[in-house]
Amino acid sequence: MGSSDLVKFEALSPAEFFRRNREIAGFSNPTRAVYQTIRELVENSLDATETFKILPSIKIFIDYADQSRNWIGIYVEDNGIGIPGDEIPNVFGRVFYSSKYRIKQHRGIFGLGAKMVVLYAQSTTNTPILVRSAPLKSDMIYEYQLMIDITRNEPVIVSQRTMENRYGWHGTAIKVVLEGDWLKAKRRVEEYIRRTAMVAPYAELIIRGPDEDYVIKIPRVTTKMPEPPKEGLPHPKSVDVELIKQLIQKNPEAPLLEFLVENFDGVGETIAKTFLDFVGLQPDMPVGKLVNDELVNFVTKMKEFNGWRRPRADWLSPIGEDILAEGVRFVLRPEVIFTVTRKPSSYMGNPFIVEAALAWGGSIEPSDKPIVYRFANKVPLIYDEGNDVVRKIVDEIDWSQYKVKFPAPLAIVVHICSTKIPYASAGKEAIAEVPEIESEVRNAVREVARKLRLYITRKEKEQELLMKYAIFSMYAEEVVNSLSYVTKADIEELRSSITALIKARLKIEKFEDLINNNNKVENTNEDNKEETQ
Ligand code: ADP
Ligand code: MG
Repeated sequence: MGSSDLVKFEALSPAEFFRRNREIAGFSNPTRAVYQTIRELVENSLDATETFKILPSIKIFIDYADQSRNWIGIYVEDNGIGIPGDEIPNVFGRVFYSSKYRIKQHRGIFGLGAKMVVLYAQSTTNTPILVRSAPLKSDMIYEYQLMIDITRNEPVIVSQRTMENRYGWHGTAIKVVLEGDWLKAKRRVEEYIRRTAMVAPYAELIIRGPDEDYVIKIPRVTTKMPEPPKEGLPHPKSVDVELIKQLIQKNPEAPLLEFLVENFDGVGETIAKTFLDFVGLQPDMPVGKLVNDELVNFVTKMKEFNGWRRPRADWLSPIGEDILAEGVRFVLRPEVIFTVTRKPSSYMGNPFIVEAALAWGGSIEPSDKPIVYRFANKVPLIYDEGNDVVRKIVDEIDWSQYKVKFPAPLAIVVHICSTKIPYASAGKEAIAEVPEIESEVRNAVREVARKLRLYITRKEKEQELLMKYAIFSMYAEEVVNSLSYVTKADIEELRSSITALIKARLKIEKFEDLINNNNKVENTNEDNKEETQ
């Protein structure tokens, strides 16, 4: 045996892996790289603000760093909680370093985005990233120029300085120079910003491009923000053997009962006892005594047991029906909009909530099938629509049931939030198929679709009445004229009594309202009473 000269073995650092395989994180070409860079930085900025109840103000500036070589500069600044000075190098220079490996809803999840930006920049232009950050209430502003030692997966500090924070600024600003095609990326970036505005109407965003006059300002439409998520514990159905081993290591002496109550979501003493009974273990046995087979069996039983409480949704931060309606109304300017936030649900012990908005008419261009806008943890998903469950479900629905005839001005917005979004890839563009999520998406879309049907039905009835009224009035005029000719009665009196008769016949009570309302833009999310299907 022994070693062979035929093959050589070596280890690959995480940074090296992602340098070689950057397309799986969305950096597949100079166009995608621009979009993905902006997106990763903006998402970090939104996490650093709204998660801490700060109304986000985000600036994005693009310039041509070297036009002959397709180098562009991207600058993103936020008013978030900032990054502690001594954490900055790791946060930008070590792949898989994050403050978000917690059970709590975030946009980021992998601890990768900021590092991908650095990796891509240094592999294309060999320039460091510039980071300036002031943590909340800090007297100092920390500035670094950083690169990544790719084989070691460690930050390289190119320069570093500390400045006085004279004006009480807090937040983070980042400047990076990379190879990118701004002109080709522009439309995607705009679309990304527009969609971000739909789900975060409490954010103010400015994007200034390299060309003269290119400025897009997205104003803050509301100061209402969703309640930030709390940090949670794992649900017993979501664990695996490795997680249990890690938890045991922290305190092997803990009796089983205490171990269960303290480490998991929604496990009280009663439930823990019932469970231990189910597994056949003593509540006072130290958890560290569980050996291999017992451990595997323990985890299997945790998944099988049906007495757990449902996972709590406190770790989630849905947008909410009102804020979602405001965002979608601002961006799409429809005639009418209906929204719903479903009750929490779960898959494999992970809580999730589905929200949907249906926008109809107004500025929405009619199309042959519904326009779909997808979001996961408030992140817009733009690429890969064809592979997404939301697109699939919207297309499966028989829209004629809801009185929609295509081409129709119909847009469907679906937001899925969870402590664990089952993304299909590290680029976070599509959601993997999970039956529980699919069925909630279907329920949510149907719920808003039913509201649309009621709305269309009501409008049709009104239209019909107006039509009848118009026809009756036309004949009435003839009748009035002939009658007054024959009877010499006063023409005005005749006209008003005939009109009254028509209104009574058509059962139009608030007739003026009907006429006035017919063309008014409706902005309700009023609770239409739901029909059962
Ligand atoms: P992730 O967002 O998945 O955690 P990133 O590599 O994008 O991974 O970011 C790593 C960490 O850096 C974040 O978890 C966060 O703690 C910190 N961070 C990045 N950008 C900012 C920012 N603009 N403001 C505050 N903290 C930030
Ligand atoms: Mg991130």
